[in-house]
Amino acid sequence: MPETVAAARSLIERDRGLVWHPYAALDGPAPYEVTGASGVRLHLRAEDGTHFEAVDGMSSWWSAIHGYRNPVLDEALRKQIERFSHVMFGGLTHEPAVRLAEQLVRLAPEPLAHVFFADSGSVSVEVALKLAVQYQASAGRPSRQRFLALRGGYHGDTVGAMSVCDPIDGMHSAFPNLVAPQLFLQRPPKATLVGGRLVTDELAVDAWVEAMDETILRHRAEIAGIIVEPILQGAGGMYVYAPRCLEALRRAASEHGILLIFDEIATGFSRTGKLFATEWAGIAPDVMCVGKALTGGYLTLAAMLCTAEVATMIGQSAPGVLLHGPTFMANPLACAVASASLELLDGWESRLSRIGTELSAALAPAASLSSVREVRVLGAVGVIELDEPVDVVAITRAALERGVWLRPFRNLVYTMPPYVCGPQDIKDIGEAITGAVAQVHG
Ligand SMILES: *Cc1c(COP(=O)(O)O)cnc(C)c1O
Repeated sequence: MPETVAAARSLIERDRGLVWHPYAALDGPAPYEVTGASGVRLHLRAEDGTHFEAVDGMSSWWSAIHGYRNPVLDEALRKQIERFSHVMFGGLTHEPAVRLAEQLVRLAPEPLAHVFFADSGSVSVEVALKLAVQYQASAGRPSRQRFLALRGGYHGDTVGAMSVCDPIDGMHSAFPNLVAPQLFLQRPPKATLVGGRLVTDELAVDAWVEAMDETILRHRAEIAGIIVEPILQGAGGMYVYAPRCLEALRRAASEHGILLIFDEIATGFSRTGKLFATEWAGIAPDVMCVGKALTGGYLTLAAMLCTAEVATMIGQSAPGVLLHGPTFMANPLACAVASASLELLDGWESRLSRIGTELSAALAPAASLSSVREVRVLGAVGVIELDEPVDVVAITRAALERGVWLRPFRNLVYTMPPYVCGPQDIKDIGEAITGAVAQVHG
């Protein structure tokens, strides 16, 4: 097409039918064009030319925790660009990677001591799964090649990660020859935040733990690792569950020589009100994946951390190395901005607890709507569960008209606001969610 013709069409028209968006048809609902972003606000243009300025209630899929065009993060990137933007990590190293690895080990729960950088959350999960299989082979248990995961879990879209996602929601049936058959436990009993504590039906937890122990006993000769999102299942339904289930998984994994892998890609870096969600249970995994908010939402980067015990076993394995090595491993720009983002997290506790309190107040009115089944808040996560599937296009529009960007899914309208939101922003998000749900669903 001649360039002049292309220029005459709106950006949204040029987008449609040309480029895919996540889980959307090429001719699906028109996206909004982002013309700018700063602080907690997105500047948007709709297909019909309408402009919106909206508080980003999604933190760009839970990643932009310090807001857009954050001067500290911008400066960290600028400084690194002036040195170099990328070099291979094979045989070379650089200050941004080493510094970030040191920071991660300092922040992570105690025995986690080694870091593998990956280019996205899904890839870090792939690396964790491969690590567990290599670990078991090295420990003389080569038959252990499968994983135990939770129903309702989400761990990414690549093939290995997909295999440990919920088998129904994860659409395993579409890829029968690609997705390895894994083992799944029922979703753990739900927990509710009451006065800063997660409370639950203790008898239901007892029953869950018993079933878990039975499954592990039956399959322990096949299980390399257990992988779960601790405390909060994100994309699988924004579901909060009992910390005691994690304690039980820790005990069972240790008893049977199984690696416990925590996927903290969504929950890490304070989102649930603890620096890492595993702290709700007061335990540490053998392996932990982080991503999403790691770079403050600036660039794609994830990391897998493991204990010295696991790393030693990999060192003693037949290949002697962890069998993975991405082209863009430890990209210096991503590492530099991640370092700066972690420094900005300093003092997050008071900010997070203020946001949690404000979110609870802002979302409370939604509980009386007839379409609303439950309102739940954990840390800087606010969720409204409806009785019916959300009309995504209508809710998005209705929220934008109230000055807030949301991206609901299934029967959930939720927010994971940037940590730099002020009290008025949180109020606006709560009012937009409540107002949009009332208008569209009643
Ligand atoms: C988003 C997410 C992933 C996948 O990360 P990508 O960067 O999208 O590949 C994995 N696990 C959890 C818990 C997530 O929320």
